[in-house]
Amino acid sequence: MTLEQTLPICIAGDWRLGRGERYATCYPATGEAVAWLNAASVDDVEDAVQGAHQAFLHSGWAQRKPHERASVLYRIAELIRARSEELAQLQRQDNGKPINETRALVASAAGTFQFFAAACETLEETITPSRGDFVSMSVYEPMGVIAAITPWNSPIASEAQKVAPALAAGNAVVIKPAEITPLMALQLAQICEEAGLPKGLLSVLPGKGSLLGDALTRHPLVKRVSFTGGTKTGKHIAHIAADKMMPVSLELGGKSPTIVLDDADLDHAVAGVLYGIFSSSGEACIAGSRLFVARALYEPFMARLVAAAAELRVGDPADERTQMGPLISAAHRESVERYVALGVAEGGRLLLGGERPSGSVYDQGYYYPPTILEGLSNSQQVCQEEIFGPVLVAMPFDDEAQLLEQANDSLYALAAGIWTRDYKRAWALGRKIQAGTVWINTYKQFSISTPFGGWRDSGLGREKGRLGILQYMEQKSLYWGMNEQPLAWAGVQTEVGL
Ligand code: NDP
Repeated sequence: MTLEQTLPICIAGDWRLGRGERYATCYPATGEAVAWLNAASVDDVEDAVQGAHQAFLHSGWAQRKPHERASVLYRIAELIRARSEELAQLQRQDNGKPINETRALVASAAGTFQFFAAACETLEETITPSRGDFVSMSVYEPMGVIAAITPWNSPIASEAQKVAPALAAGNAVVIKPAEITPLMALQLAQICEEAGLPKGLLSVLPGKGSLLGDALTRHPLVKRVSFTGGTKTGKHIAHIAADKMMPVSLELGGKSPTIVLDDADLDHAVAGVLYGIFSSSGEACIAGSRLFVARALYEPFMARLVAAAAELRVGDPADERTQMGPLISAAHRESVERYVALGVAEGGRLLLGGERPSGSVYDQGYYYPPTILEGLSNSQQVCQEEIFGPVLVAMPFDDEAQLLEQANDSLYALAAGIWTRDYKRAWALGRKIQAGTVWINTYKQFSISTPFGGWRDSGLGREKGRLGILQYMEQKSLYWGMNEQPLAWAGVQTEVGL
């Protein structure tokens, strides 16, 4: 297929042109078009959901034995691995992340399908302790059509985290990827088809969330929405879901504290803090964007951190040595710049960065350098709002009580990092930090076997983990009567199990 040709999209088992506007997806490192496609239309949403519903009812997928569904998921994992380099290169072009990061995301997607294949074939239903003349059981049923709405920062990994457990549970899925990064979801749909997933069970609807995501969320046949994205959009979806009495899982934004205690191993802490905020150019929900350093260490630690950050290699995402690629778009870079200007206007001092790099590749893409601000207090806007870019705000602290108060003083509560040699201190602090994930002497490490999600404005529900599959199932209780006599009722003493 040539660049000028319009990519088909996957609607209810058919690969055809969307009925929305034609648009190009662009490589953030150059601004050049990567592919042209037609967005889906609201009519396409209708077709995709109806097709998914029919496939759920009639394809036999939900009725297959768990190990049979698992074998398709294992094949999807194998096919992702077989095409991993091609997928990683495409994802690099889709969102401009450095190639080493996109390789890791593709590997993670394969691992996610493998993991949920195993979760599916080993999921146990239970016989519960009986309190009467019956056998009571707790079992799980698939829900029907699931909507998976994903952001632009980690395509394929985000999509796999929703699609794999939802399919494993026996459902049909309609993906609404971010408008600007639709290519990996389309690839995933092709792979699923090749792996033998029944037609219609997976659709992909590229295009605007305010139109398509909204229509999908409101659709009466959609029985659950699994959403990853910004808090504002998440709350909007939660309102719609409340009206429909529909469960949702919401993986939202963050403003995560990283804490360096006075006994930290500084080599580890410097490397971890850098990785926590600047990898993925800070375009990560779990970015460690608020740094708290024990005052006794503050000056030497910051000197080392700034020197190390200045050495980070910002540049061409195709270059294996690159650590930070461009930001996703010109508009997003402008938003990051506005936050930095605001931080300076609020009294912050720039220790590093704060200005677009220029010359060679920098003039073509939406690059922004590692940026470190100090001299601000935790209540100021740049310390409270998610910037979603390579901007770190550093603050010294005097004692742990003050530290804890400030670290927890955020609408968000997604993640946190603690650097200390003393595991008892880490334990005490780690239990008091309000966050869905706390990393101790490490940061931004993930395992599909460990549940992930946020508190407060960072979200609702958990993804991943062996029981992540249950998010996509309804729980049902079954009672099997074992009594020899008819149920005692009219005029007869009844024993009600309590
Ligand atoms: P958005 O909330 O803008 O978009 C996320 C997805 O929602 C996109 O597919 C978008 O479509 C869609 N969408 C937009 N409006 C609606 C609507 N009214 N109804 C339904 N869907 C809609 O977030 P961003 O794309 O800007 O992503 C960045 C955000 O995602 C950050 O806040 C980040 O913290 C968060 N995030 C959270 C993660 C977590 O696991 N907690 C992981 C990664 C990111 P479109 O873009 O096409 O308009």
